[in-house]
Amino acid sequence: MASANSVQDCLETRTDVSREGLRQAILDNLFYVTGHAREMAEVHDWYAAVAYTVRDRMLSTWVKGLEKLAANRNMRAVAYLSAEFLIGPQLGANLLALNITEPVRGALSDLGQSLDEIIMKEPEPGLGNGGLGRLAACYLDSLASLGVPAIGYGIRYEFGMFTQEIRGGAQVELSDKWLRQKFPWELAHAEHTHVVGLGGSTSTHVDEKGRLRVRWKPGKKIMACAHDVPVIGHGGRECNVLRLWRAEAVDTFDFESFNAGEYFKAVQEKIFSETISKVLYPNDDRYQGKQLRLGQQFFFVSASLQDMIHIQKVLGKPLATFHETFAIQLNDTHPAIGVAELMRLLVDEHLMDWDQAWAITTRTFSYTNHTLLPEALEKWPVELFAEVLPRHLEIIYEINRRFLDEVRAAHPGDDDLLRRLSLIEETGPRYVRMAHLATVGSQAVNGVAELHTELLKRDVLRDFAVLTPGKIRNVTNGVTPRRWLALCNPGLSGLITSRIGEGWQTRFEDEIIRLEEFASDPQFQKLWREAKHANKVRLAELARVHAGLTLDPETMFDVQVKRIHEYKRQHLNVLRVIALYNRLRRDPGMDFTPRTVIFGGKAAPGYYMAKKIIKLINSVGQTIDADPAVAGRLKIIFAPNFNVRNGQVIYPAADLSQQISTAGKEASGTGNMKFGINGALTIGTLDGANVEMLECVGRENFFLFGLTTEEVAQVKQAGYDPRRFSESVPELGEALEQIASGMFSGGDREEFRPLVDNLLSRDDYLVLADFESYMECADRAASAYADRDNWTRMSILNVARLGKFSSDRAIREYCGKIWNIRVG
Ligand SMILES: *Cc1c(COP(=O)(O)O)cnc(C)c1O
Repeated sequence: MASANSVQDCLETRTDVSREGLRQAILDNLFYVTGHAREMAEVHDWYAAVAYTVRDRMLSTWVKGLEKLAANRNMRAVAYLSAEFLIGPQLGANLLALNITEPVRGALSDLGQSLDEIIMKEPEPGLGNGGLGRLAACYLDSLASLGVPAIGYGIRYEFGMFTQEIRGGAQVELSDKWLRQKFPWELAHAEHTHVVGLGGSTSTHVDEKGRLRVRWKPGKKIMACAHDVPVIGHGGRECNVLRLWRAEAVDTFDFESFNAGEYFKAVQEKIFSETISKVLYPNDDRYQGKQLRLGQQFFFVSASLQDMIHIQKVLGKPLATFHETFAIQLNDTHPAIGVAELMRLLVDEHLMDWDQAWAITTRTFSYTNHTLLPEALEKWPVELFAEVLPRHLEIIYEINRRFLDEVRAAHPGDDDLLRRLSLIEETGPRYVRMAHLATVGSQAVNGVAELHTELLKRDVLRDFAVLTPGKIRNVTNGVTPRRWLALCNPGLSGLITSRIGEGWQTRFEDEIIRLEEFASDPQFQKLWREAKHANKVRLAELARVHAGLTLDPETMFDVQVKRIHEYKRQHLNVLRVIALYNRLRRDPGMDFTPRTVIFGGKAAPGYYMAKKIIKLINSVGQTIDADPAVAGRLKIIFAPNFNVRNGQVIYPAADLSQQISTAGKEASGTGNMKFGINGALTIGTLDGANVEMLECVGRENFFLFGLTTEEVAQVKQAGYDPRRFSESVPELGEALEQIASGMFSGGDREEFRPLVDNLLSRDDYLVLADFESYMECADRAASAYADRDNWTRMSILNVARLGKFSSDRAIREYCGKIWNIRVG
């Protein structure tokens, strides 16, 4: 019988979620999909078998999700365009969403396998650098969990973020071969391919109807092939898709007609085509103007827009209502070329007139700014741009001409304003300013924390804020409480659920506050402490097995994990550790809270200072380790290869979270939130979302130090002299002197000279100016930790009051303030 529901035609053995059914399904998949006899299967074979078993149970919702998107003719869908999606390991999260963790654990145990061991062996798709890519992943989770139709569009990098090893105290980068074993969570959809052009030239002609038209004749054509990853919402009822594009050669040449030379050339071109999606650029908050990178950006954006236009057609809707079907969000300027590409598609390819195309474009796009750092703002040299995207440069000039005409009409005679607003920077060599393109082409622009948005309006986008008041809005970042509490911290989660039920998993922003009531309950405090302690033991075990490190869970875990960057000031933290070490050596009998200072994070491979900082952390660690005088009281370690999987073990184990960036530099931060909802207290500056976290948890539960954004500006204005601080703060001067003297580098005075020289001469991030305040504050935190009951109370209050930082809240705000989408 022909069924209306194709899913019901499928074998029940592929959807059964009983322990027995799952056990059989895992065995079937092990044999029929991975091709392994049970006796010969290794952990990754079992992993694949389980992954396919879980995937089978997602497919019906998955397919229905696509149907729903298609059927939802009157609902806008979100298209989230991002060059990065740091989705992390998938198995545990999908089991949680489907609520089948326990039956699968049982089924595996019947087969003599351990689910936890299998989960730890899962390769991680490292398709992002850090916060920005992880934010995109949290937002996909929330969109699906809130039932908002959405497609994430990105790049299927063959090599994601490099694997970091530490050798001789220094970072070594290894290529990330996450696809060596098949990635079971993707479905390659050969039917969804689009051709993307690059390079070449343009010409004009008059068409048969007498219209002047521009023809772009690309020098190269590349095929974009869709690889879909399901994004299942909590409860397993909704499923969206993450569509990642892989570059492939447009392979149409006819062997017979080619001579040997041309054959070789054709193969060379094939190789070039495939390099487009080959590797993720490993720079976080540092722009690198590489031609291939612009090619990558255009490649995925063009494919995505063509895909959306195709969907619009399949829906039977006219292009004139494109903006009613899609709300496109630009995650930073990486996909900003989409503004010009949508114009090209509408005007050149679909023959729409410019004004109508522009009206549609500017109703479709919105742009999220992620940084104020000048070195991170994307601007492409005009010559390079013309080479890669000649037609788009013309379109950008035309957008700019019309835009500046309007500005001129409203502000006659203000040439300086025109120069500042222009999409083209013309002081010296000419550049295309991608943030300006994104802003002009969008109906809304948002910053990612209140402070950041204020600074955007005051600084980088000041003139736009004046020109179009109300266009720049704030949506403070959030993180998903599913992955970042329920999944990564089962101990604390179970305890929370035992008191307030499990509503917090889907209504974190409303429910978690109910925990406040238990903050002073001694029994609850004890259980809370035990859960945190177990997490510390788990981290110590992981560090021992994977990195040969010894951590003592009885000490305070004082943690800074994030990308290594001077503005994040890991070196400020190291200076503190050195000062503590000196105190202990001077006065071995002193009252001292034993602690383990844990660092982790990757440095961009070309970022010299960041790599020196890693070396310094490891060198200080070695020196301290070798000194029996401080054994058991102070330890500093570097946990290699910080990524989502390791984060899931590290955040829950932290007692103290280090969020110590120079005020005004960190746009939001999301690590701060992950630590916070896992019960770590924060020591931090008034920067990014720290400001709002402090407001939520209360001053008495936050260790605040350092200069404010205004004070930073004043200090710089007055002519900052870092030497004054090294001379007037004895502990600081001593620590710097020790580093310079070679105390941590076996007498080598050269190793850390660049770091020390930089701090003493420029110190752009005011490390020395904030040192004293930081020391004093960290001392207060350590003393507070010694009062266990009070610390636990603060830790509970901290979690209870951080409901705002759920990405569900953030996505609701995007729906209301930016996308005009109603959400239940
Ligand atoms: C959350 C996260 C980040 C961002 O951390 P910040 O402290 O906000 O800089 C970076 N990398 C990974 C793997 C993360 O999970």
